[in-house]
Amino acid sequence: MAITIYTNEDIKPGAIAGQRIAIIGYGSQGRAHAQNLKDSGHDVVAGVRHGGTGWKHATADGVPTAEPAEAVKGADIIAILTPDMVQGDVYRDIIEPNAKEGSALLFAHGFSIIYERITPREDMDVILVAPKGPGDLVRREFQRGRGVPSLFAVEKDVTGKARDRAMGYAKGNGGATGGLLETTFREETETDLFGEQAVLCGGAKELVIQGFNTLVEAGYQPEIAYFECLHELKLIVDLFYEGGISKMHHFISETAKYGAVASGPRVVTEETKARMKTILEEIQDGTFARNWIAENEAGKPQYEAWLKADRESQIEQVGARLRERMAWLNTPKAEAA
Ligand code: NAD
Ligand code: MG
Ligand code: MG
Ligand code: MG
Ligand code: MG
Repeated sequence: MAITIYTNEDIKPGAIAGQRIAIIGYGSQGRAHAQNLKDSGHDVVAGVRHGGTGWKHATADGVPTAEPAEAVKGADIIAILTPDMVQGDVYRDIIEPNAKEGSALLFAHGFSIIYERITPREDMDVILVAPKGPGDLVRREFQRGRGVPSLFAVEKDVTGKARDRAMGYAKGNGGATGGLLETTFREETETDLFGEQAVLCGGAKELVIQGFNTLVEAGYQPEIAYFECLHELKLIVDLFYEGGISKMHHFISETAKYGAVASGPRVVTEETKARMKTILEEIQDGTFARNWIAENEAGKPQYEAWLKADRESQIEQVGARLRERMAWLNTPKAEAA
């Protein structure tokens, strides 16, 4: 049976009426949620350090601010929207000692709960609202009267209000206009990590780099290889995004299509699939999380070295020069969050 997609009419009117929302972490997600919820008529406060970047952004956005501990004290729903790796400290130092009895702790990603970085107080609801898009899109779609589809989940319902709180918050953020899909903390966390590692960020990047390297090592000009293996990927991804694999097949040439179906499975093979399965198992059994936490505790030396190697790779040098000529890339974007 297909998953239920909840929209605005499915959400109890006044689901979070009168509940004060504190947003802790005013970055990509926090900035969008705070403004959307405020524009939806909710009582929102951004918990930010006076004079810091979050404080400056919130002030510019007209969102009320308070020091993080003060913001937590009055709140019924506390959204923890800092980077995942600092959430444990933020919870221990700021939220646990100040949260009022029966308040809800709200996440946009389940990492801290699934890998037990945070054990919420017994009296608190634990809920999740995860828009399937970056913060600037979440804000922009809301302003257009639309919304980004969002996941929601209830991990712990102590007060009997947890589900209404998650759905009401998601609605105020525009998510119910886009459509709400119910999940669990475990499903959201494990699928999010798997997708970004195996397919979106990790898999796609390696496919591009190794394709580029194959052409360059065979003696082709790196600039030509760059266009074929990186630049044109956007055209293909846009077709996937707009109409799935069928739309991509519809728009490419017969020759491209024959080559795609004949050669694609020879590049991404059963062996690749077996590696994907291993990666998923390491996410499920906590190996990935333990490695990432240990890496953070060690000051991220391996992480920095890997990123440096990517930054210094030939495809990056070649691409930077070619992109200078792409005038459409150099039109100013809205100020980054
Ligand atoms: P971000 O890095 O854009 O912003 C984090 C904010 O937290 C910044 O304003 C930063 O100054 C602040 N911060 C950092 N350390 C802090 C501390 N010790 N105390 C208080 N504030 C601190 O983060 P983000 O990408 O918005 O991610 C927030 C959460 O949303 C994460 O759980 C992430 O997994 C999840 N999420 C992100 C996206 C996305 O597209 N960015 C999508 C879905 C879910
Ligand atoms: Mg994701
Ligand atoms: Mg993620
Ligand atoms: Mg081509
Ligand atoms: Mg072609």
